[in-house]
Amino acid sequence: MKAADLAVFCDFDGTFSVQDVGSTLAQRHAAERRPAEWERFEKGEITAWEYNMAILDGLPVSEATTEAFLKTVELDPGASALLAWCGAHDIPFRILSDGFDLNLERLQKIHGVQFAYDANTLRYEDERWRIGAGYPNPTCDCGTGVCKRGRIQAYRAEHPGRRTVHIGNGRVSDLCGAQEADIAFAKDTLALVLEQRGHPFQRFETLFDVIAALEASD
Ligand SMILES: [Mg+2]
Ligand SMILES: [Zn+2]
Repeated sequence: MKAADLAVFCDFDGTFSVQDVGSTLAQRHAAERRPAEWERFEKGEITAWEYNMAILDGLPVSEATTEAFLKTVELDPGASALLAWCGAHDIPFRILSDGFDLNLERLQKIHGVQFAYDANTLRYEDERWRIGAGYPNPTCDCGTGVCKRGRIQAYRAEHPGRRTVHIGNGRVSDLCGAQEADIAFAKDTLALVLEQRGHPFQRFETLFDVIAALEASD
């Protein structure tokens, strides 16, 4: 494997960033509705996107309140270095996020970084969130708003021969992407579920670990 053949796809919440934007705001502003909806999701009665709709669509959080929270969100200590490393090696880098476009736009400005991304949509209506699914994929059982398998497959169709890398931390939104990619980096619940399924992956703590592993693979 040569680094020059790689294309890197990275989860945002809890992977490129330290905090999870959607779930932190949901804990603060929709705490009472979460347990019942999560139970329905765990039982398979609703999909991951339907869970998001139940909790986040209509969330009573204004643009100003969101902005104040976004200013507290930290990036992984190796986040900028990973962007720079990919840039220096002409390796395409893309955030695949089951979070929201407006938040990713703001976080890029706040942290002075730039990345391409695929995400769900967020708009404001009467000081409330209105959300829409970005890239749902009925053929994948992830049930999320942004099917990462689908995004990686679409990229591969356009760029045959590229070795795809997926970096993530969540068993719900990252599993299909990790399974689809040629190389998977995982931590947290994603690492647990990949281990249970016997799917090969490389464990990481910060994105510096990912850079070191990709460097070593050259
Ligand atoms: Mg995540
Ligand atoms: Zn999927």
